[in-house]
Amino acid sequence: MSVPSQAPITIVGAGIAGLTAACALAQRGFAVTVLERAGQLREVGAGLQISPNAVRVLEALGLWPRFRAISVASERVELADSMGRPVARLDLARYRPKDRFRLVHRARLVALLEQAAREAGVRIELGHEVTDLPEVPLLIGADGVKSRLRPLLNGIETPFFTGQTAWRALIPAEPDPTPAAQVFMGPGRHLVSYPLGNGQRNIVAVLERPDWHDEGWSIPGDPAELRAAFARFGGPVPGWLAQVDEVGQWGLFRHPVAAHWQDGTRALIGDAAHPTLPFLAQGAVMAIEDAWTLAACLAADPDQAAALARFEALRKPRCQRIIEAANANARNYHLRGPTRAVAHAGLRAVNRLAPTRLIERFAWLYDHDPTAL
Ligand SMILES: Cc1cc2nc3c(=O)[nH]c(=O)nc-3n(C[C@H](O)[C@H](O)[C@H](O)COP(=O)(O)OP(=O)(O)OC[C@H]3O[C@@H](n4cnc5c(N)ncnc54)[C@H](O)[C@@H]3O)c2cc1C
Repeated sequence: MSVPSQAPITIVGAGIAGLTAACALAQRGFAVTVLERAGQLREVGAGLQISPNAVRVLEALGLWPRFRAISVASERVELADSMGRPVARLDLARYRPKDRFRLVHRARLVALLEQAAREAGVRIELGHEVTDLPEVPLLIGADGVKSRLRPLLNGIETPFFTGQTAWRALIPAEPDPTPAAQVFMGPGRHLVSYPLGNGQRNIVAVLERPDWHDEGWSIPGDPAELRAAFARFGGPVPGWLAQVDEVGQWGLFRHPVAAHWQDGTRALIGDAAHPTLPFLAQGAVMAIEDAWTLAACLAADPDQAAALARFEALRKPRCQRIIEAANANARNYHLRGPTRAVAHAGLRAVNRLAPTRLIERFAWLYDHDPTAL
């Protein structure tokens, strides 16, 4: 890889976007500093589903063996109704055997990326909250959904509350857990669960609840409320929820994809540019795709402004499409009454007659190879 002569790069935020970008840029010879407000990158967060489009980036960064060791394969996605009766099954291992769908704890992925970034020569300053954005030759805002840089490029925007809240919890995984993401769909609510390969099972439960307005990952919730909201669910759900003793809760907000991602000396990546609802499991994945594309554009063109413009042009339409698909899933999971019965019957029929159809609908998403750039 070429060693560019460009100016040093400052990244705000050591989440998945910031650390992956730091690693990708440093591997290409850029001098990179990451400023992170947290005093340490602690065990926060829960599960992430990482699809093959992002695994290709981790592999290109030389991180696949380490990532494989901290994650577990997701062999299929199972959709069921609220009583646990099968509705559809996306057999990933069978129909897409070359693709790597993985399940991982967010903190383990962050720790891996932090270590890889440091090995590549990145300076990471923890406990450094950026309040006034520094005047530097190139500033990357990887500072998440409440980004400070985004309003400087886009003005003040107000996200709207979707009327849905989500709980997330970790429980001990049973021995030999089903290596699958399981989705249980009920009227106005759904629950997703998968094992994380570290002896834990991740649970995310979403409920339509118009009276909640907080956005953020670390708001404590009440396990009893979670159990009450899903009391009518069957299958494995009651047994899982009985084990929840700590739960986080957050409100789901819809943000527009940022209209302006860069201005020639500053750029946004990850949630700072395009926060998503969690219904397609692509938040961390888009962050990883962004990171590679940004590094590739900057390494390919010594004209920084042109490189950033190319980055924005490459990424914006794709992120827009992904976010629209996630928004559509939000509606489909929570159907009620006759619409729900008809939709589930339709899915069961498609699944029986053309079992690959549901997977192929997302070929545009999972076949994408950011490293082809
Ligand atoms: C604590 C936490 C837990 C999460 N848990 C989950 C989860 O369980 N499941 C899931 O699917 N997704 C989770 N996410 C979201 C998911 O990780 C992101 O959607 C996705 O990875 C995009 O990452 P990002 O790097 O763009 O943003 P983020 O992951 O939000 O990272 C942004 C980083 O910037 C730092 N930062 C913000 N402002 C400043 C500032 N002014 N100065 C310095 N640093 C700053 C933050 O501390 C954070 O480390 C979590 C995010 C966070 C922050």
